[in-house]
Amino acid sequence: MKKHNFSAGPSILSEYTIKNTADAIINFANTGLSLLEVSHRGKEFVAVMDEAQALVKELLDVPEGYHVLYLGGGASLQFCMAPFNLLRTKAGYLDTGTWAANAIKEAKIFGEVEVLASSKEANYTYYPKGYTVPDDLDYFHITTNNTIYGTELRKDPDVNVPLVADMSSDIFSRPVDVSKYDLIYAGAQKNLGPAGATLVIVKESALGHVDRVIPTMLDYRTHIKKGSMFNTPPVLPVFSALQTLRYYKEMGGVKEMEKRDLAKAELLYNAIDASKMFVGTVTDPESRSIMNVTFVMTPEYKELEKDFVDFCAARGIVGIKGHRSVGGFRASLYNALPIESVQALVDAMNEFEKTH
Ligand SMILES: *Cc1c(COP(=O)(O)O)cnc(C)c1O
Repeated sequence: MKKHNFSAGPSILSEYTIKNTADAIINFANTGLSLLEVSHRGKEFVAVMDEAQALVKELLDVPEGYHVLYLGGGASLQFCMAPFNLLRTKAGYLDTGTWAANAIKEAKIFGEVEVLASSKEANYTYYPKGYTVPDDLDYFHITTNNTIYGTELRKDPDVNVPLVADMSSDIFSRPVDVSKYDLIYAGAQKNLGPAGATLVIVKESALGHVDRVIPTMLDYRTHIKKGSMFNTPPVLPVFSALQTLRYYKEMGGVKEMEKRDLAKAELLYNAIDASKMFVGTVTDPESRSIMNVTFVMTPEYKELEKDFVDFCAARGIVGIKGHRSVGGFRASLYNALPIESVQALVDAMNEFEKTH
């Protein structure tokens, strides 16, 4: 049975990505060798890296003066690398969830951190609004999509200081005005490829302004200078990411992805809103994520949550168990998930509700 994969990360990838990656593991670019056993400096892999960088620039309309990198260490390493390279005295952060809080903790190692708004006291059930961003910040850090709590900011904020964004779980789900950002980073394993590569888009002129010594590997300039090939890059994740990027381009780019993602999210949120058994956890409708939909059972039915997970599993619906800090369910609707899978989940919800 074909599975409906709602996993939060690592998560569903397009069949095109999986198939081409599998093929390249056997015979990479007609070399007669596996992708896993060739030099990253050979012309075949250099072409992969070049195209994987160029397609990000094309799909996100990245302006001149920016570099695209594929680094190791996950988005979590960027929590440290960003302030290491950019924080002189003070940065502002939004505390919108577990990942944002982790980013704040790392930034404090390097300077003063002002938390401009937090929804922590409400278990992160909304995306904060109405805060002011002081002009004296080195940068303002946001987490555009809060993967665990199902909240999202689907626009690029207008502020007078450079923006830094963790877009791990919603990059390529909408057009982004990259010119507003000094730095964007995203772990690959949600909307791009397998775990092991982190996409970084960095503005060259933002670098070189801190006084501290930066270890070679943690200095963005090292990787810019060497075209993201200073050391051995994560070759397999980069190859897979390239397949996904080609797929996105073929499908019509990020505008088309956004259209599809909005339709999927609407289908599921409408079903939740119409249900007496299920209820969304995000209190502010405008904060609802179109990537991760979090919901629980109403108190009356609460003890049936486990049964529903099993009911879904029997229908090939997997990965819907909520993060332990929220409970209930989380359906991740990343770009590669077809709307048919969302329909299957909605059908399962309706049927379960009818029979209980
Ligand atoms: C998954 C995730 C992370 C952590 O990524 P790693 O690659 O595991 O370090 C960070 N931020 C957000 C928003 C995420 O969804």
